[in-house]
Amino acid sequence: MERKVRGSILNSYMGFVTKKWGRDGYRLCMSDIGLWGEFRDGNYYQDAIRENILRWISREKGEEYLKECGKFIATNLGILSWLVRFSDPKTIANRVPKNFSEIYSYGRIETNTDKDGEIVVRLFDVCRIRESCEVWFGVCEGILEATKTNGSVEETKCALKGDSYCEFKITY
Ligand SMILES: [Zn+2]
Repeated sequence: MERKVRGSILNSYMGFVTKKWGRDGYRLCMSDIGLWGEFRDGNYYQDAIRENILRWISREKGEEYLKECGKFIATNLGILSWLVRFSDPKTIANRVPKNFSEIYSYGRIETNTDKDGEIVVRLFDVCRIRESCEVWFGVCEGILEATKTNGSVEETKCALKGDSYCEFKITY
């Protein structure tokens, strides 16, 4: 199956680039990855574009910005953001698998929220480059931040290190 993503996620990434490095940063990033114009939220695009944006952020600005990008995405959920503020981490985490399948044409996410103070997020066939793992780490941190919850995130398994999926453990 071809790996595709909706324009909405590319626009979120580029929204982060613009917030950090302005319109010049946006233009530079787009020209460096060989693209121009705008992404339409509902359209599907090659996932390679998403990977190239992440590689650009890491290479040109530093890999520490990848987690920040993930956090930005998780805390800027558009029309859902007013709900998030009154929500708890488990409620948000339980919504992630469905949201994911609406945006990505490939892969699958499972979340386990059975234990108190712990959320386990598993990504099957999602991350192919290290930069993607970093962004997902940031998304998990963003779930805590968006709900004003103190806690920490750890990547406990990684598909790029030989595990059959990436796994993040959120404890709070
Ligand atoms: Zn990973």
